[in-house]
Amino acid sequence: MTRDADPTLSDALARAEAALARFRDATVPHLIAGERVTGTETFDTLDPTTNAPQCRVAAGGPAEIDRAALAAAAAFRDWRDVPGAKRRRILHAIADAIVARADEIALVESADTGQPIRYMAKAALRGAENFRFYADRAPEAQNGLALPDVDHVNYTMRQPIGPVGVITPWNTPFMLSTWKIAPALAAGCTVVHKPAEWSPLSAVILAEIMDETIRAHGGPAGVVNLVHGLGETAGRALTEHPAIRAVAFVGETTTGSHIMRQGAETLKRVHFELGGKNPVIVFDDADLDRALDAVLFMIYSLNGERCTSASRALVQRSIYDDFARKAAERVRRIRVGHPLDPATELGPLIHPRHAEKVLSYPALARQEGATVACGGGRAMGGAGNYVEPTLYLGAETGMRIAQEEIFGPVLTMIPFDDERDALRIANDVRYGLAGYVWTRDVGRAHRVARDLEAGMVWVNSENVRHLPTPFGGVKSSGIGRDGGDYSFDFYMETKNVAIAFDSHAVPRIGA
Ligand code: NAD
Repeated sequence: MTRDADPTLSDALARAEAALARFRDATVPHLIAGERVTGTETFDTLDPTTNAPQCRVAAGGPAEIDRAALAAAAAFRDWRDVPGAKRRRILHAIADAIVARADEIALVESADTGQPIRYMAKAALRGAENFRFYADRAPEAQNGLALPDVDHVNYTMRQPIGPVGVITPWNTPFMLSTWKIAPALAAGCTVVHKPAEWSPLSAVILAEIMDETIRAHGGPAGVVNLVHGLGETAGRALTEHPAIRAVAFVGETTTGSHIMRQGAETLKRVHFELGGKNPVIVFDDADLDRALDAVLFMIYSLNGERCTSASRALVQRSIYDDFARKAAERVRRIRVGHPLDPATELGPLIHPRHAEKVLSYPALARQEGATVACGGGRAMGGAGNYVEPTLYLGAETGMRIAQEEIFGPVLTMIPFDDERDALRIANDVRYGLAGYVWTRDVGRAHRVARDLEAGMVWVNSENVRHLPTPFGGVKSSGIGRDGGDYSFDFYMETKNVAIAFDSHAVPRIGA
């Protein structure tokens, strides 16, 4: 990492160096059954600001996954019977430990991913909130229903499905991992976590917090296990392992298809949160100042590396030119800089391969007939993976810049004529994760929310999350929902028990 004269940045760099020191000093290990394990294979992670190697990480394969899956299966026999009230206390204690280490987590996450520190500090605390939310639901997670019949009483029990695999992507990895793992533990499942190979460090802190806390409360080792490695080896082995009953996956749509095939032999239950090409629709009657703030925030914050980012702005033709001009002025002022600088609004992208992909689109956009109104090139003198915030104008829905998930700070703006036209364009993609609508017309807000092909719609708002609400996508954006009790539907089985009254006459055969 480079040094800088700015005292705030210098201070953050020094604190990040201290937090990263343990990862630099030795191979970053797996955590299996409470033991730190490194095999012979390793891979390097890169510093996104320079692309110099940052850490050496143990690369797991089928052997490590097997060990971790068996450890999770052994721990499941104890963990599933831990009373809900105790699981509640343990999950709150995990949240407390996350809060105590939030600064360290944010620094490590920012250095590992290139995401601006201003957002990572909040993401770490949101990780703690995810644990608190599911801590409070743990005592009732296994509650069922009583269903009386004429001469029977039926009741249902909700039981944890067993050891589960959790496979996470490189964007906001800490927050996303907690969002998946907290409900699994609250339900009574045990976990094998395979984090993304480009950003594995915060998962190490999370795993040690969970393991230490569970064991400090008398729980077994192996409730949570962490195996690093490449998707095609460690990820694949996890999805194929017979002891793993379900796989919660967050990542690309194509990877979701692979996982479905890999899990077919063992009939894995799968939960997929996949890609998106989310529309934000701005009608001419909207509060245009707030709409502009939201449009910009939902694509240029978090480096545009966010599944719910609104990467297509559909703007009514009557206001298109004015809205586009104001957007371009603001985009040119976005502060690109070192991710650890608190003033930075846009940091470097995660990896050189991803930066190359994002930078391949401007030529394509021009070729397709769109205008590159801002950006399109490398930023910060070409160092690391810094790219300029980019705005494409005059795009049409059939263009690749309007169809493909670019997953960077890149907005494609498309004009539309009326409500029907807006919906036609909005739904004309394979994805269906989120949609955003800006209008003051309540009737139109309801109609558009109903007809948008998306799992979630926000009206006159950016992506504000309320944890009890369902989160997930339709079409190629996913299968299943997280949030509230929806997560338990995935991590639990429902069993029916029927008990007959004495009055029940059993049919007699052979009498
Ligand atoms: P990715 O699919 O390349 O990788 C995600 C994870 O899957 C990694 O841990 C990787 O090692 C693993 N993996 C890869 N191949 C595998 C295989 N064959 N079997 C098992 N595991 C395998 O995704 P990414 O590039 O890390 O993340 C970005 C993507 O994630 C984007 O498409 C983004 O939209 C999506 N995402 C979606 C949500 C959501 O909630 N819908 C949230 C965050 C990210």
